[in-house]
Amino acid sequence: MKSDLFTQETLPVRDGSQITFTFYTHASIAVDAGGHRIYFDPVGETIDWATQPKADLVLITHDHFDHLDRNTVKVLNGTGDYVKLKPGEKINPFEGVEVEAVPAYNITPGHQDFHPKERGDAGYILTFGGSRIYVAGDTEDNEDVLSIRDIDVAFLPVNQPYTMTVDQCVRVVEAIRPKVFYPYHFGGTDVKTDIDALVERVKGITDVRVRPLE
Ligand code: ZN
Ligand code: ZN
Repeated sequence: MKSDLFTQETLPVRDGSQITFTFYTHASIAVDAGGHRIYFDPVGETIDWATQPKADLVLITHDHFDHLDRNTVKVLNGTGDYVKLKPGEKINPFEGVEVEAVPAYNITPGHQDFHPKERGDAGYILTFGGSRIYVAGDTEDNEDVLSIRDIDVAFLPVNQPYTMTVDQCVRVVEAIRPKVFYPYHFGGTDVKTDIDALVERVKGITDVRVRPLE
């Protein structure tokens, strides 16, 4: 099992302070902001979560097994409590940290049952130090996603058949224009995502960074 050696990256935020990302796998990331450790969708049976920093907040986008594992949440915070917001809901979990849920859903015919709009699955926009971090959850290039703006860092899912194709993801990057873009959730199925092609197509638009989030 993997223990403490995960890729991390620290980025400056708009007010001059910093934010640190830890990249676990697939849709599982952590953010350190203002002394708080916030996990998004912590899942991964190859990871020894007990070696990781305790969670101050666990945010879940939706109930699928690659996003919500109740045992992992319990290991991380001792209670198993987590927060799953509906699109449009907003919380202030800590001083200086705001989390807003935005819609995440499929639109491709034949794929809409994976994440139906009416179920209310979420993506999240976390605001810290004036910077806006968008963690998209499982979604496609629907009109709600295409209308998101003013994003510093975006995590966008690119796998088939559950989330976006490379073409769809390029469209989202062109619309949102995040300063930094981490493809995530780009594995986990039999259809291999051409991540090199994605990087080639967006690198003039955003600072694209591929990390171990397959
Ligand atoms: Zn899903
Ligand atoms: Zn997923």
